[in-house]
Amino acid sequence: MYCVRGFTRARAGIDFGYRFFILPKTELERSRVLSETPSDTRHRAFPSMEVAPGVARVEVVFVNAYLIDVSAKSWVLVDTGLPNCARWIRRSAQRRYGRNTRPEAIILTHGHFDHAGSALALARGWDVPIYVHPLEMPYLCGRSDYPPKDPTVGGVLAQMARAFPDHGYDFGDRVRALLMDDTVPALPGWRAVHTPGHTAGHVSLWREADRTLLAGDALATVNQDSPLGMVVQKAEFRRPPAPFTTDWGAAQSSVEHLGELRPTTVSAGHGPPVSGPHVAPALTDFARRLRPPRHGRYVAQPAIADERGVVSVPPPPPDHVKTAAAVTAIAAAVATVTLARRRDGSR
Ligand SMILES: [Zn+2]
Ligand SMILES: [Zn+2]
Repeated sequence: MYCVRGFTRARAGIDFGYRFFILPKTELERSRVLSETPSDTRHRAFPSMEVAPGVARVEVVFVNAYLIDVSAKSWVLVDTGLPNCARWIRRSAQRRYGRNTRPEAIILTHGHFDHAGSALALARGWDVPIYVHPLEMPYLCGRSDYPPKDPTVGGVLAQMARAFPDHGYDFGDRVRALLMDDTVPALPGWRAVHTPGHTAGHVSLWREADRTLLAGDALATVNQDSPLGMVVQKAEFRRPPAPFTTDWGAAQSSVEHLGELRPTTVSAGHGPPVSGPHVAPALTDFARRLRPPRHGRYVAQPAIADERGVVSVPPPPPDHVKTAAAVTAIAAAVATVTLARRRDGSR
């Protein structure tokens, strides 16, 4: 896995039900300009985008990480992208904060490979701790792998997921548990909201002051289940990444809970940020409509996990997709995403 050039997307807000709330281009461009100093311009190949005051999104292929300002010189990293993308994140941070910068801490919404993949390399390089919810600890301390992924759940991502890992990591003493009082180390003004379902210890980050929500994989703001959705990247509330979601009842409740927060800006682990007065009612509406997939390993019965890791999982359903078809689907999906990125990057 390697990193390709990142880019920002800027489209005018268009109202299609709850698919309307993209930050206007002018605001994005203004934010980007404000976050740059003249000496930063050499790093233009590593753009990041301000999704809310003091919160910048860094796109790492198909997943988002976030740089959150704490003060003029201190900041926190939320999620770390795919494996082997530490340099990408580091350069994005240098572009924003200066050459020898390092964060106060790394916060992980959860430990899947696309969010925690570069966490250990970054934490070691910067000599900073990694914080996760206590129920996520088993998967980052080498005590448990995640419940098996579910490629039978349907959609493009499910086919791509056949090539993705579902193992845990061992970050040793670099990883620490978040406190149960919802506070976030080094991030005053933010709360870690427990949003289980996608994983047992998943958290979303919430800033009440301006109603900014970083939702991780509690939901997505892009349709990852359709090739067209992945190419067009239309901003819309969508279910959490399905092949890795192992408790759909909890996932639904978590989205309902996030809707009750009435956010003004939502930025997730996958997809563009959404912002505006219509976001809160749209999220409430989405939470009301959200249903589990029609079929899949964890639809009728969730994986059971506790502070030791996975306790039990339902048996795998029949998988009728042949290996060759799966490989073809993966190749097609990867090619589609790559072409879309190149097209977008050349604009
Ligand atoms: Zn995930
Ligand atoms: Zn993810």
